[in-house]
Amino acid sequence: MIDGSYGEGGGQIVRTAVALSVLTKQPIEITDIRAGRPIPGLRPQHYTALSCIRTICDAEVEGLSVHSTNLKFTPHDVKPGVYTFDIGTAGSMTLVFQACLLSAFHASAPLTIILRGGTDVRWAPSWDYFAHVFLPLISKIGIRTDTQLLRRGYYPTGGGEATLTIHPVEKLIPFSAQEPQSFTEMSGIIHRANLPDHISTRMKHAAIKTAMKRNLRSSIQIETAPSSSTGTGITLWSESDQTILGSVVLGEKTLSAEAVGETAANHLIQEISSGATLDCYAIDQILPYLALAPKPSTCLIREISNHTQTNMWLIKQFFSVDFEVTPQQNAVRIVVK
Ligand code: ATP
Repeated sequence: MIDGSYGEGGGQIVRTAVALSVLTKQPIEITDIRAGRPIPGLRPQHYTALSCIRTICDAEVEGLSVHSTNLKFTPHDVKPGVYTFDIGTAGSMTLVFQACLLSAFHASAPLTIILRGGTDVRWAPSWDYFAHVFLPLISKIGIRTDTQLLRRGYYPTGGGEATLTIHPVEKLIPFSAQEPQSFTEMSGIIHRANLPDHISTRMKHAAIKTAMKRNLRSSIQIETAPSSSTGTGITLWSESDQTILGSVVLGEKTLSAEAVGETAANHLIQEISSGATLDCYAIDQILPYLALAPKPSTCLIREISNHTQTNMWLIKQFFSVDFEVTPQQNAVRIVVK
C-alpha cells in the first residue's frame, strides 16, 4: 500500500510507483492520490501515463479514471513492440516517456513508443532537457535508448510528436561523481514555433552575456520548430567528463526574451557554483536508476527538493536501499548504498 499523499503528494509518486510495480512485478495499491494538490486525484496527464504503462504490460487495474484517488495495479510482463499513444492535450510527453522507460528497460526486446502531446510544458522536463540531459545521464548508468523529435507541442493544444525506443539493458553501472567538476562550456537549444525571429535572437544574446560573466564559452542553436501550436523556450546544459547539469526556462507572455535567456543561464551557473554534479531536477528523475544499479552511487546536489525526498521514501517501499545524505561545502552529498 503506497500513501499517495506523502511529501508533496503529487503526480510523480503515482507514475514512479506504477513503473516500479512493473519493474519489480509487484502488485500495488496507491491511496490518497495527489492529496497535496488543489484538485486531488488523477488528472488527464496522469491518467494517460498510467494507461500507457497498463497497455505495455497488459496490467489489471482498478480505479484508473480521471479524479480517482485510489488505484490498484497488478502488472504482467512488458510486451516488446511498437506502441502509439496520444495524450490528447499538451500534457507532458517527457513525463510519460520517463514512466514508460522506467517500467520497460528490463524487457526482453526493444519497445518503441510513439507519443503525441506537449513537448515543452511547465513543471516538467523540456524536450531538450530529456534528450540532452536526462537520457545522456542515464546512459552513463547503462540505459540505452534512441529518440527522435518530430514536432514540438505547446500549451494548450499540444500536437507535439516524438518517439522513444527502449533497448533491453545489458548491465547497470553505478554513477560516481563525488567531487565538484570543471565546467567550461555551456550548450543550448532555443526553440521557437510561430513566433518572430527576434525573440530567439534576444534570448540567445542574454544567455550568452550571462554565461560570459562566469567565463563559460557558449554554443546555442536556434531551432525554428515545426508545430501546430505556439511557444518558445530555452534549455541549457554543461558537461564535464563525468556528468551533465541542465537548466530549463519556458517562454511566457509576461516574460521578456532577455529575462528567459538570462534566467536560464543564471540557473545553470547557480548549479555549477554550488559544486553540484547533478542538478536539482535530475536527481529526483535519476534516483530509481541509482537504486537499481550496483552500489554505491554518489553525487552532489545543490539542495534536496521535496520530489527528491519523496522519491527516496518511495524507492525504499520497493527495494532494500539506503540514501546517505550529508552536507558537503555548498552542496549536499548523496550516497546510494
Ligand atoms: P502534479 O500535477 O501533481 O504536480 P506532475 O506529475 O505534473 O504532478 P510532479 O509530480 O511535480 O508533476 O513531477 C514533475 C517532474 O518534472 C519532476 O520529476 C521534476 O523533476 C520534473 N521537472 C519539473 N520542472 C522541471 C524543470 N524545469 N527541468 C527539469 N525537470 C523538471
